[in-house]
Amino acid sequence: MAEDPKAENRHLAEEVPAAKASNALAARSRLRVLPVAAWGPVADSFARPLQDLRISVTDRCNFRCVYCMPRDVFGPGFEFLPKSKILSFEEIRRLVTVFVELGVRKVRITGGEPLLRRDIPVLVRLLSKTAGVEDLTMTTNGSLLGRHAQALADAGLRRVTVSLDALDDQIFRAMSDVQVPVTTVLEGIRQAEVSGLAPVKINMVVKRGMNDDQILPMAEHFRGSGHILRFIEFMDVGNSNGWRMDDVVPASEIRDRIHQRWALEPVDPNYVGEVARRYRYADGAGEVGIITSVTHPFCSTCNRARLTADGEFFTCLFSAKGHDLRTILRSGASDREVAERVRMIWTGRADRYSEIRSEATVTLPRVEMSRIGG
Ligand code: SAM
Repeated sequence: MAEDPKAENRHLAEEVPAAKASNALAARSRLRVLPVAAWGPVADSFARPLQDLRISVTDRCNFRCVYCMPRDVFGPGFEFLPKSKILSFEEIRRLVTVFVELGVRKVRITGGEPLLRRDIPVLVRLLSKTAGVEDLTMTTNGSLLGRHAQALADAGLRRVTVSLDALDDQIFRAMSDVQVPVTTVLEGIRQAEVSGLAPVKINMVVKRGMNDDQILPMAEHFRGSGHILRFIEFMDVGNSNGWRMDDVVPASEIRDRIHQRWALEPVDPNYVGEVARRYRYADGAGEVGIITSVTHPFCSTCNRARLTADGEFFTCLFSAKGHDLRTILRSGASDREVAERVRMIWTGRADRYSEIRSEATVTLPRVEMSRIGG
């Protein structure tokens, strides 16, 4: 029986209005037709998903920590980013929307010192209202936290990490290389707690011969406080901190020193990709973490992307160069086009610096921590 030619073409006829409608919609929402792959969770060449985004909102800091922004490099003549290059809050929000579409669920605001960025609660509010952002946090040196904690909490920040390398005031000032008393940071932590940003995570970078005698006093101070102290192995980030393996106090030594004083028991990670090895005090006084980037790298589960204040996208803390997103963002490109660029970069990602660290890699150029954000 001969087929009805009209019937054969009926599905085409039906598709035309729908296609027209969808084209009109796409035009209206600036979504141009791009490979479908641009939208949706992405994984890199080692199947590592993109889930965690750290955003540096400024490359400036009011501290000059010797392991991060040594004063002889970051002195009065140092050229920080000009305002014109720094992403606006709206540009950051837009990028976060794109990253969320690609799988990001956790966002951390960092720097430089994020509390130096004017009106930072405005950004917190924007991001806390961004659909898909399930965990919004900030890392700060705590010096301005006393003043800002309540506004940050009111704007929707849920948690905060405070860097604190010593309780002893002299050692604290020697590490931070500024004349801010340690009591200011402790007050910042207290205000964070009062404002509901608890439990606070406290980051202590341990550098041998400088503050390793503070491991036990810090552990004692935060035991039973409800806050979580995390020791960080001194890392070879950037090229200006004079890193030497001899200055690293290995995680095993940190753990043993604490364990000899207060018995510790290992705790399972909260989730895949958690960087801190967790231990709880056997007497129930809470837990500590140790971040073992040097002695036990965690590249294989690294799901972190980093964005600098001027919109460079880094896929590794130890990279030399990032990928410029600011230009495409300011070029009139659609969100899908920006997403496609991010997707291409992440799918091509193969870095695993900490796993291949050696005498040779230590001399390679690397981005500074204050620029990429911790
Ligand atoms: N200004 C904020 C602060 O002090 O927390 C945020 C930026 S800071 C770069 C982020 C984190 O990186 C801090 O906890 C800091 O101690 C850590 N950090 C910086 N340089 C480091 C290094 N060489 N090794 C290990 N941690 C480092």
